[in-house]
Amino acid sequence: MAPPEISTRADYMAWMTKLLGLAAALMLAVPAAAQNGADAQENLNALREQETRVAIIGDRLAIAAADAGWCTDGHSLGWALGEVGQYPKALRFTVRRTWAVPAGANLFVAAVVPGGAAAEAGITAGSGIYSINGRTPMRNPFEMPSSHGREQSERLIDRLLAEGPLTLTIAGADGVRREVVLRPRRACKTRFLVAAEDEEQAYADGSNVLVTAGMARFTNGKDDELAAVIAHELSHNILRHVRRTEESGTPENYTRYLRRYLNISRSMEEEADRLSVWLLARAGYEARSPVHFWEHFGPDHDAAGFYGRTHDRWQDRVAAIENELTAMAAAKRRDVNARPALLDRRDVVPVPGQRPDISHPDPQPPTGQPVTGN
Ligand SMILES: [Zn+2]
Repeated sequence: MAPPEISTRADYMAWMTKLLGLAAALMLAVPAAAQNGADAQENLNALREQETRVAIIGDRLAIAAADAGWCTDGHSLGWALGEVGQYPKALRFTVRRTWAVPAGANLFVAAVVPGGAAAEAGITAGSGIYSINGRTPMRNPFEMPSSHGREQSERLIDRLLAEGPLTLTIAGADGVRREVVLRPRRACKTRFLVAAEDEEQAYADGSNVLVTAGMARFTNGKDDELAAVIAHELSHNILRHVRRTEESGTPENYTRYLRRYLNISRSMEEEADRLSVWLLARAGYEARSPVHFWEHFGPDHDAAGFYGRTHDRWQDRVAAIENELTAMAAAKRRDVNARPALLDRRDVVPVPGQRPDISHPDPQPPTGQPVTGN
């Protein structure tokens, strides 16, 4: 999904801002029109549900990929965090009530994955976090909403995890504080977040996967389709697409760069589409779900920008996904634990203006052995 169709410099800048600083999107956590009364409560209830769905699906994909050895760099804590100060001031009381955040806590557990690391430590959604290895989490003290406090806590947690399990002081709705030990599980290095925006979008920036509430809502009742969206974005992070785009050159001449960039972008979208079916299959989701998603999403969401397409037509994307499903089935007939050869593209720096053929990335069987499938 990321990046969206780009037709003007403003679009391009907006996309770069979003991609490189998801903080901007998260600051506007809830649309201004929905900040009061029953609407606000309803929106926050919906947001809480979607945060839980995204946490569960993201966790399952990131752990399964790490178990397979397809990424080795991260951890899962089986939760999503929130900070009261990331919401507009007028909403903060309703936020506390929605999650039952205890008094005196600003950092809270917004979602818990059943059976995950946090759940195993006895942490429940809505728990307030008062200290992390003895340190007080940073809060946003200003009226202006900002996700800075939460991001600081996430970075602190990442640093502390290098030393071992976390010791947290938490409290549930009853406000009684207690200590828990939280032991991380191995997973791909990605956080899964929901932005309360209506636009149906999803983004990856190398460390985060952001799904809008609009996109999550579009897949309501279809967790496999949401898993397809998240697997595609996680694939961008596993395949280092933001870094590789940076390594391919910087936009000195905007127009010329953009035209050449489109090939890089479409090629990386294809890589992400193809790797996603492997991630889905490995995590026990329906591997064909990207096809189902595009048949559902594509007809009303396919437009080319003025400079050309950053993404292929959805029908072409479906064809590439079908092709990869066939290739995956053939690879698994040779070896049930087959590894996607696409992972070897993680360090390939793209050449602007060129689109490599990645339709048959799997190593060919030794000569003399009959080739099955396609
Ligand atoms: Zn994408």
